[in-house]
Order: sequence, then structure tokens, then C-alpha cells
Amino acid sequence: MFIRANFSVLFILFVCGLSCQVTSHKVTPYVSNSSTETIPLSPKPKVEVEFQVVKVADWEASLAGLLDLDDPKAKAAGLKDRLEPISIYFYLIKHPKYGSFMIDSGMGENFPNGKDGRLVSSIVESQMHFDKLKVYETTNTYLKKNKIDLKGVFFTHLHLDHTLGSYEMDRSIPFYVGPGEVTSKYFINIFVQGSTNRLLGENPNLIQFDFGKSPNEIVVLDFFADQSFYILSVPGHTPGSLAFYIRSKEGGHLILGDSCHTRWGWKEGVTPGAFTTDRKLNRKSLDFLKGLAETHKPKFVYPGHQERISSSEK
Ligand SMILES: [Zn+2]
Repeated sequence: MFIRANFSVLFILFVCGLSCQVTSHKVTPYVSNSSTETIPLSPKPKVEVEFQVVKVADWEASLAGLLDLDDPKAKAAGLKDRLEPISIYFYLIKHPKYGSFMIDSGMGENFPNGKDGRLVSSIVESQMHFDKLKVYETTNTYLKKNKIDLKGVFFTHLHLDHTLGSYEMDRSIPFYVGPGEVTSKYFINIFVQGSTNRLLGENPNLIQFDFGKSPNEIVVLDFFADQSFYILSVPGHTPGSLAFYIRSKEGGHLILGDSCHTRWGWKEGVTPGAFTTDRKLNRKSLDFLKGLAETHKPKFVYPGHQERISSSEK
């Protein structure tokens, strides 16, 4: 296993040079010129979707990765690095006209026993504490049990913990990712590209948004053009990180993705730490999301890896 992992890293080094894409799978652009800078305030949206959050697993991760421990607020709170309890979620929306879509991919059948079935390289596995995973739901079983016919999956980003259920999905399902998520190149990807490729599975139908803006810009897209489902391009955690603002009958839902992993980080406005690619840009995106929450007052805000925060909480 170790030899295989090293060989694949060497192979990727040979193919990519000193930096490479997060996946070498083919990606198709989704060009849209109808993006805006923010979400219009409207008392009642034209269409509301059904919304659901599903917790697939409990897990643990380093607090120094989840939160910037050098932030003055983290220092004042005396936070030190340790393992923090986190969870893995996926979200489902059902649009009355366009059908069911998922945000992030949940969990594949390979993972429940802490064994990955060789999808993840040993180098990555040693960093990810898979032995601490406690799985409650696997994606395909959940979709079958609830007779959900998926029309697409939106990825908050392509870090491995968000792609664990992708390889089992029907190959025709579009996998949407944010601007530059696949086409940006980084050194770290030399170590994760093989694992990401296997987790996305063979020939995924990968589609990358292109809003024709500079890579550092925050952009909003009313995806169904009916005010029910907004895609928020919030770069920083990764180049193509996405957040979502969703209107359902019970109110607004703001999905932060890993622009903010934790409840404490959201409440205190502290960005992620070592897990984030560009902290300055993540700061700008988190400030944008905070502002959006102030203006639109969603009923629930969903940090990437912890329980949702209700508007009634203080
Ligand atoms: Zn994550």
C-alpha cells in the first residue's frame, strides 16, 4: 500500500511538475453571464424548494485546521490545537420543476468500517484519521431508500471529505464545481490528486462554473432563475469554494461549506486555519457571508462540519 502510494506520487510529479490540479479528470465549463454581486431582497421568492440536511458521519479533526488559532479572538478564548468533534453532511433540495439536487456527496459504502477499499492513498489516509469515522448513512442507500432521482450534485469544494460518496453515483449525473476549483494548480495536489480521482470515480461528468470574473471575486448566481436557489462563489478555502442560499417554505438556509467549518467560527467570525488555501481571501468571503446573513436573516446557517445555527440562537 505504501509503495503504491509513493509510486503514484512520483508518477503525478512526473506528469504535473511541481504543482497540479486537484483532479486530472476532464472538466467542462459552464459559462454564465447572468451572475450578480449579491442576492436581491424580495419579501417572497417566486419559487420555494424543499430542503433537507442529512448527517452522514461523526468525525474528528485538528482545531488548528478548522480555526485560525492566531486570530485575536481565538487567542483571547485560549484555544489550543486539539482534536475537535465534527460531522460530515450532505444537503438535498427538491425543486418543483427541475427535481432533486444534492450538495456534497455524503459517504460511499467503502468507508463505514474505517477501511477505504483502496480509494484513498496511504499518505492521505494517515492524515485523515479515517479510524475515527462513525458512519450513520451512506449515500446510495439513502437515495434508493428515499426513491430520490438525482439531477445533479453541487460540491462546496473538492476536498476529499466532500467527495467520499461520488464514485458510486450514476456517471451521467452532473457534478458542478466552482470557478477554478479543478483548473487551479497547487503543490499539495501532488499528494491528493490520485485519491480525488478515485473518489470522483471513472469518467465523472465534471462541470466547472465560469462567471467570466477574476478568480478572487465573489459572485452570486440565481441557478434556476426563480430566486429559490442561489450559488455563491466564495473563493479562499479553495479557489472554487461555493456556498448556497436556499429558500424553502420554512425560511432561508445559508450553507457555508468550508468557508467556515465550525459553529464557534461563525459566531465569532473567525476563519478556518491550516485547512484553508488562501486565508485572506477566505476572510473576505466569510465577511461577505456574514453580511448576507445580516441582510437576509436566514432561518438556519450551516457551518461546513458542525450543527446548524438557528436564527433564534444568540
Ligand atoms: Zn470539509
